[in-house]
Amino acid sequence: MTDDVLTPDQISALKTTVAGLMPGLRKDLEDLTRIPSVSLDAFDQAQVEASAEATAALLRAEGLEVEIVREGGRPAVIGHIDGPQGAPTVMLYAHHDVQPPGADEDWDSPPFEPTERDGRLYGRGAADDKAGIMAHLAALRAHTGQLPVGVTVFVEGEEEIGSDSLATILERHGDRLRADAIVLADSTNWALGEPALTTTLRGLIRVVVTVTTLDHGIHSGMFGGPVPDALTTLVRLLATFHDEAGDVAVQGLKSGHAADLEFGEDRLREESGLLDGVGVIGTGSLLDRMWAKPTATVIGLDAPSVAKSSNTLVPTASAKVSIRLAPDEVPLDAYAAVQRHIEAHTPWGAKVEVHLDDQGAGFDADATGPVYDQARAAFTDAWGVEPVDIGVGGSIPFVAAFAEKFPQAAILVTGVEDPDTRAHGANESLHLGEFEKVCVAEAVLLARLGAMKR
Ligand SMILES: [Zn+2]
Repeated sequence: MTDDVLTPDQISALKTTVAGLMPGLRKDLEDLTRIPSVSLDAFDQAQVEASAEATAALLRAEGLEVEIVREGGRPAVIGHIDGPQGAPTVMLYAHHDVQPPGADEDWDSPPFEPTERDGRLYGRGAADDKAGIMAHLAALRAHTGQLPVGVTVFVEGEEEIGSDSLATILERHGDRLRADAIVLADSTNWALGEPALTTTLRGLIRVVVTVTTLDHGIHSGMFGGPVPDALTTLVRLLATFHDEAGDVAVQGLKSGHAADLEFGEDRLREESGLLDGVGVIGTGSLLDRMWAKPTATVIGLDAPSVAKSSNTLVPTASAKVSIRLAPDEVPLDAYAAVQRHIEAHTPWGAKVEVHLDDQGAGFDADATGPVYDQARAAFTDAWGVEPVDIGVGGSIPFVAAFAEKFPQAAILVTGVEDPDTRAHGANESLHLGEFEKVCVAEAVLLARLGAMKR
């Protein structure tokens, strides 16, 4: 690669620099992890303030001009430092809030006391996403005094509760966040030793459907037979969301294709805990089904509980259905298709109401161009193998928000996680060896973007 923008010596010097930074990065990561910055209302929000302050202090120490901003939600931290004249600006995103820890007894060590076992650092937020913050700091520290690009760091404080004030933050502070490339460090790699760029995310809608057949409950013995009850009617309606093979049967929903990677049924069964003998549903490759095709899942029912049920024809019943969408689906188009499906498939003339409970767009990156080329090269420098493009079946609403706000910027979704991270679960952990590679990749990426012809 004679036309590479960096020499092998420059790359190996950065690796050496980052290796020397690791003890300090590790200490700062542990200090951040000790702050129980759970953004959910029921938890002490002084801790989210404390993690914003701690994040701000770390960025100030690197010479960034830092402000903590609040737009009706949790505190976000914005920092900026100029690069050389004419150099591109890179925006680095992470979040400093964390999920609730869950029950202490499910953890093998206290969730907010970072603990190393077998090369992994355990603790709530040790990976998601305080290690994302530290990866950005690693890239800054690796270039102290000679940053190759301008850098804006944006560390959100409410990602785990849905980024409700993000749209307002982007609206009011968007000019300060504008960048040529955006690195969103909140996803995963494909496997230990196998880096990945997340190039697709599914979208989501949640709908509540309410079926009514009677104006009051009546005796099932007297009227059962000719008179339909709402719960049976609702169950029949819900059953029409899938065909016999288990594919979603709602006409008009888009269906996409996932990247071509090896992922077999054994790995699916192992990672999901699917019971022996229970079939895998749907058609197409497993990754198509997990990353690119729509799903429909009944996630809640309002109906009499088994314990409190009586011999009554239930007059009204509701279900909440979570529908994951192909990465390029427009959520409101999907909602219209679901409404049409429900109206056409509600049996026996029952009254039916639908409402949209939540929606979030997916993400379908144009994973080409010079920034992606340099990112793939930087990952290859760090790991020694080329990164793969992966999808994620879940939704990360903030990615779509950035894509919409900054359509001209190349958006790279990276991350510190691996398949054993257990983000959001008990015993969340960070693989420390992989973390160093993540830090190298980001430091090299900044150097590469700074060295690009312009
Ligand atoms: Zn996260």
